[in-house]
Amino acid sequence: MIKVLITGATGQLGGAVIDELIAKKGPAGISALVRDLSKAGKLKEKGLDLIQGDYNDYNSLVSAFKSIDKLYFVSGSDVLNRSKQHENVVRAARAANVGHIIYTSFQRKTDDSSSPIAFVASAHILAEKLIKESALPYTILKHALYADIVPSFMGDNVIKTGAIYLPAGSGKAAFTSRTDMAHAGAAVISGNGHENKTYEISVNKSYSFSDVAAILTGLSGKQISYTAPDAYTFSKAMSQAGVPEAGIQVMVSFCKAIARGEFDFPDSTLEKLIGRKPESLSDFLKKTYKL
Ligand code: NAP
Repeated sequence: MIKVLITGATGQLGGAVIDELIAKKGPAGISALVRDLSKAGKLKEKGLDLIQGDYNDYNSLVSAFKSIDKLYFVSGSDVLNRSKQHENVVRAARAANVGHIIYTSFQRKTDDSSSPIAFVASAHILAEKLIKESALPYTILKHALYADIVPSFMGDNVIKTGAIYLPAGSGKAAFTSRTDMAHAGAAVISGNGHENKTYEISVNKSYSFSDVAAILTGLSGKQISYTAPDAYTFSKAMSQAGVPEAGIQVMVSFCKAIARGEFDFPDSTLEKLIGRKPESLSDFLKKTYKL
């Protein structure tokens, strides 16, 4: 039996991959990498084998990866410290001679430090490079920007206020639901012929925030407008509204990247992998805002 190990298993993406694999084939052969076993009761109940391992602890990873045929490697969530973590994971996968490493990277136009989101991109670029150098069979899944972050950028009250206020200009992104990306991961894990491939994982249409405003107007029957201030004006307004500085910086960086088309990679590979149309942004927003 093929042995599959899912990292990030207690998180949203890894958890959704596991649920999809179980729905397809049942839990046999699926293990979950968990850094804190006491947080993994739900995974245990699902019938998975739990293996302790931490991206910060190379030795724990080498022993966790022993005799694993397919490793689904979820990029680290500690953005400032994850380059070392990614190095640990890939080196350990190499040392344990994992059969196939599937890595959740992200879409981007710019690899160098001129990118507004270079602080996010650098650890992905490093992981992709190390994976390719490792000579292990790999699949790199270049995930789109999550549709799930659109509501968090616009805020819970956007329907009430009727206003989207973000410094994203008229840039477009192929916002894609995390669940569909998880289903693509499960399809790669359970399918064949994906070795040494890099896939864009996104819906086949990109949207600007003007498009988002039009979708919300149509769904709610209320006029929703989009205003795109410059980054300075936006930061000042957010600061006056009491938003923490770190949060403002992250939003500004991502919005600048959207404005520059860093995530404008619509693609049909996701649809082919999951064998159905991915959730549209309209359906995603309808569900999220209960419209
Ligand atoms: P999440 O719910 O926060 O899950 C992160 C998972 O990684 C958790 O299971 C967490 O374990 C695990 N983890 C964190 N640090 C670890 C470590 N040192 N060793 C082992 N496991 C560790 O995040 P998500 O929504 O599933 O997203 C998955 C990844 O996608 C994120 O980590 C991030 O890199 C990326 N992302 C992409 C986008 C996008 O728009 N493309 C948006 C958000 C995130 P614990 O439960 O123990 O904390």
